[in-house]
Amino acid sequence: MLGFTHYYRTTHESADNRAAIAVYIQRLDSGDIGLVEVNCPNCRATNDQVLFDRDRYGIPWKTVVCRDCGMVYSNPQMDASSTVEFYASDLYRRIYGSGHLLRDSTSMFKIDRVDRSRDYHRLTHYDFIMGSGIEFESVVEIGAGGGWNLIPFIEDGKHCVGYDYSPNLVAAGRQQGIDIILEDRRGLIGEYDLIMLKHVLEHVDNPVTQLRELREHVSADGHLFVEVPGIVKRIPSIQNAHYHYFSERTLASVVEQSGFEITSIRSINRNGYILVLAKKSNEYASLVPTPGEHEWVISIVRRGRRGMLKALVAERLPQPLLGALKVILRR
Ligand SMILES: [Zn+2]
Repeated sequence: MLGFTHYYRTTHESADNRAAIAVYIQRLDSGDIGLVEVNCPNCRATNDQVLFDRDRYGIPWKTVVCRDCGMVYSNPQMDASSTVEFYASDLYRRIYGSGHLLRDSTSMFKIDRVDRSRDYHRLTHYDFIMGSGIEFESVVEIGAGGGWNLIPFIEDGKHCVGYDYSPNLVAAGRQQGIDIILEDRRGLIGEYDLIMLKHVLEHVDNPVTQLRELREHVSADGHLFVEVPGIVKRIPSIQNAHYHYFSERTLASVVEQSGFEITSIRSINRNGYILVLAKKSNEYASLVPTPGEHEWVISIVRRGRRGMLKALVAERLPQPLLGALKVILRR
């Protein structure tokens, strides 16, 4: 039994973040945002255990772990129309961003100035994909924002298209000359050699169903690329927009059940991100057993919870007392 499920983390959100969070909580309370109970997105069981009952911003939000397979996910989740509305309205980016949507976006387009030693994650996907040696001519990115992730591929002469919900970001991308379409993945047409989902799969409902639908748009011998924040370093940042917290094992299981064969998988030490490249397969794999996954998740959560308690104490104690305590503890 975990006992304490009240999530706490010191956050440094701006006034605009706080205003957006208040709007979100009010819309949850009023039923304006619809919620649905879900089965485990990996093994379909309904045998879950609550890990946290609110997210890092104090939004009432349940994060659970599947007792059968160890998958960590939100339950309930926003229903389909509320999810679309959440991203299309930019409420999501107002909660998580610095509060200046278009200013944040503009800096994202400056890929040529990215220093890989300092800001590695901006080009990790490109380095990983190119390092794998796969051959491809066309790329489509789902949830592309303004299309900044496509820039290095465009510079390589690949045929690139992005899809995104947000009218503001689509307009910003088009202004940069990037081919971005204001549609979600259901509006996707045509076939591509490479489909990219960079920090998207953790936000969508029914990941297996969605990946199977996307697979129809992957050319023969084509590939799927997925990048997600991994579970190990992300448990201390539980947030309402994240429906899934993957490990390498649960991510591989979801991707293979969707009709792909993993060709490479890698976790980035620095931030815990997981990157997967998978080739279109002729069959859907059955569920891969993940023994010990549930116990492993519980141990990570216990560790994360100790960090949260420390942060809580540090914030509540008066500064002089805290300073004295640190001196005593160091002796
Ligand atoms: Zn499960």
